[in-house]
Amino acid sequence: MHKTELNSLTMEELEGYIYSIGEQKYRAEQLFTFIHKNQGTDIENISVFSMGLRDKLEKVSKINQLRIFKRFDSKIDNTKKYLFLLEDNNIIESVAMEYKHGLTACISTQVGCKMGCSFCASTKEGLIRSLTPGEMASQIYMMEKDLNNKISNIVLMGSGEPLDNYENTIKFLNIIHEPKGHNTSYRNITLSTCGLVPKIYKLAEEDIPITLSISLHSPFDEDRRKIMPIGNKYSVYDIIEACKYYNHKTKRRITIEYTLIEGVNDREKDLNELVKILKGMNCHINLIPLNPISESSQERPSKINIERFERSLVKANIPVTIRREMGGDINASCGQLRRRYTNERH
Ligand code: SF4
Repeated sequence: MHKTELNSLTMEELEGYIYSIGEQKYRAEQLFTFIHKNQGTDIENISVFSMGLRDKLEKVSKINQLRIFKRFDSKIDNTKKYLFLLEDNNIIESVAMEYKHGLTACISTQVGCKMGCSFCASTKEGLIRSLTPGEMASQIYMMEKDLNNKISNIVLMGSGEPLDNYENTIKFLNIIHEPKGHNTSYRNITLSTCGLVPKIYKLAEEDIPITLSISLHSPFDEDRRKIMPIGNKYSVYDIIEACKYYNHKTKRRITIEYTLIEGVNDREKDLNELVKILKGMNCHINLIPLNPISESSQERPSKINIERFERSLVKANIPVTIRREMGGDINASCGQLRRRYTNERH
């Protein structure tokens, strides 16, 4: 029998659900707080419910759980990488990073990914399945419990394309923002996308003012298509127009992710075009020196080239930072750890 996944329901949905099984609405708030504030995972432990109600709930519903499969600790900067085992035995990756402003979690939204970006290990076996809102939230709660620390910033930048799992991602954002639960400010959440243009317009209408981060990686359609197949569907121009709309609707600054790959997108002409297309847009560029993966021959540019790129952007009045590498000693960029372990298991 299919059981309803309680931790994937928004507060509103939970109210509807509780009502549908003949209980009073205030029980929904108690249940939501138990799951999303107290991070409870067993229905039998909901002490504010009678035994009868717990039994009744257990028959028709469940709280989906993850288990920590492995944890990798960086000795350099305290970054922790997690491999979580899902109930169906799939594995996903999440990362907890310590910054001055608090603990940031990078979470996955899908098992694998179908977008096919050439520099990314998450996509090498395609999309296995999308995660539920509860599985996204559980990554946060499991890391908080394990580290005994509150996560203040969330980035949807692990495995998967969040906008390809649109409904579940929106529900997750709603759940994690709910003041009666985890109560994370939308301003502390960043969603990273490879540029699914129609979904960016849709997101702009949701009244969820999170930071939108675009994986651009090249200002030229022809070059971008070579590293990001999604470029065959949506042009750089379309993406920039969608970003401007998002800017306008949400008043949030856009982050442009730009992975620097030697000889591919670190040339003078890339720089000039990038400056041209971003002119007048409220944005910030994150330069990410490539973390080479074993499945590809692409290389990271020299330090001198990376810094030259940065200086030129500053000169053109475009705010820019070179992303500091976190957990360099346990690295394995996005998707690599999971891939190593799933390959080993097969
Ligand atoms: S970079 Fe993101 S969108 Fe591209 S394949 Fe990897 S997970 Fe998917």
